[in-house]
Amino acid sequence: MSSSETLTSGPSAVHASFDTILVLDFGSQYSHLITRRLREINVYAEMLPCTQKIAELPFKPKGVIFSGGPYSVYDEGAPHVDPAVFELNVPILGVCYGLQEIAWLNGRCVGAGEKREYGPASVTVEKGLTNKNALAFFKGMPEVFDVWMSHGDKLHGLPNGYEIVGRTDNSPFAVIAHKTEPILGIQFHPEVTHTPLGKQLIKNFALEICHVNASWSMENFVDKEIDRIRKMIGPNEHVIGAVSGGVDSTVAAKVLKEAIGDRFHAIMVDNGLLRLNEAEEVRQTLGEYLGIKLTVVDASEEFIGKLAGVTDPEKKRKIIGNTFIHVFEREAERIVSETSGKVEYLLQGTLYPDVIESISFKGPSQTIKTHHNVGGLLADMKLKLIEPLRELFKDEVRQLGELLGIEHSLVWRHPFPGPGLGIRVLGEVNKAQLEIARKADHIFISEIRAHGYYEQISQAFAALLPVKAVGVMGDKRTYEQVIALRAITTHDFMTADWFDGFSVAFLKKVSSRICNEVNGVNRVFYDISSKPPATVEME
Ligand code: GLN
Repeated sequence: MSSSETLTSGPSAVHASFDTILVLDFGSQYSHLITRRLREINVYAEMLPCTQKIAELPFKPKGVIFSGGPYSVYDEGAPHVDPAVFELNVPILGVCYGLQEIAWLNGRCVGAGEKREYGPASVTVEKGLTNKNALAFFKGMPEVFDVWMSHGDKLHGLPNGYEIVGRTDNSPFAVIAHKTEPILGIQFHPEVTHTPLGKQLIKNFALEICHVNASWSMENFVDKEIDRIRKMIGPNEHVIGAVSGGVDSTVAAKVLKEAIGDRFHAIMVDNGLLRLNEAEEVRQTLGEYLGIKLTVVDASEEFIGKLAGVTDPEKKRKIIGNTFIHVFEREAERIVSETSGKVEYLLQGTLYPDVIESISFKGPSQTIKTHHNVGGLLADMKLKLIEPLRELFKDEVRQLGELLGIEHSLVWRHPFPGPGLGIRVLGEVNKAQLEIARKADHIFISEIRAHGYYEQISQAFAALLPVKAVGVMGDKRTYEQVIALRAITTHDFMTADWFDGFSVAFLKKVSSRICNEVNGVNRVFYDISSKPPATVEME
């Protein structure tokens, strides 16, 4: 199934219900932040690659923002918008490369600057402005405001029909506006937090120039989404989906439960690589508390058997991922054969960052680690995808979870990787090693919760290292294993810092509990590596 087909279960209803601003992405690392900022002010926004053909737009936007990008507009092969975007007759805002693109298409007045401009600058609004759109853009803004710049090219003249409405010492064309049309360009980046009033400018563009109805909220979204799914899935049709106990799959499952009740079948695969009591907790939370029709499949022997003797991390990930697909398919087939109606759909908890990742305008990036997903299922089972979270960012999913009555601790749970403890037992995985990692992890996480650290940390876990070390216990020499503790903070998991907030007393307690309570361990280390150069997980 191609990704465009999956869109049939996606955006159409959202666009019918909410005014949309379109962000055309030229490949800047900040493009998605423009979308974020708009959503934060209750304006629905979506990103598409800058090469999007305007005639094929899946919706009619109320305004368009051109993002920044790493290229130079004058280079051969540099990306350019479909000129038809100017015929949509909606307001346009160009940011950095986006400004340069406007200038390039309207008079070729862009070239390399003498020096790059990177970092803070301050914009002065032109005195005595009469330009209606510029006045709307600067509404509520001071005459001078701080911005953040990141560019090497600059305008060396005004494009046809435009005027200067703001400048900095270095950039005489920092803000330009068309004299009559609602088209503006800015050299700085309003979407980054280093531009303190950037959000106000984005808001002014959306509300004062595009006149969007800022009604995007989870309260408004959820009823419409549930209603849409209910209408989409026929009365005899069923949906299956994998759940893990994580926030995304739980929220997605709860949306389906609200929409179609017991015609949604959740499957939890117990791969033997879960944390202490995890399968049981999922059974209680999803099955009993949230009332979702749930089957827990114990496939631990199968997984652990297949992992025997394997030490290579990538091989382990692949084995776990493939076994997962295999077990899930088998279970799904059983449900299909036992169900009187037709199983037509597969639920996936895809989030908007995954969608952005797949449509961003960029070259192929290297695979650092293979990701665990169930995408491979579709080919064989011929199921249609249903992705109720595909328009949402993680924090929106959390809001939605709370709105649907999912308990706070689950909504704010740290992410847990698909391969689970299989990649937290470094080297060979077997039951005895899993038991050690599981107990140590449980002690670490329980103490983190008990000391109130849990929500200050983005992800924490214990890993079992594939080495032995000498120790002494009760006057006897020991030669035992080593536990590594890892706790990180991050905004987006692309980069991360190790958590530096643990008290010495806390570390002492965790270390002593692990050495005393977990047989086979005589040392505990704390991982003080950031990402990069490390990654969050160790395998
Ligand atoms: N590559 C362009 C420049 O250097 C645009 C940079 C950007 O959009 N951040 O000026």
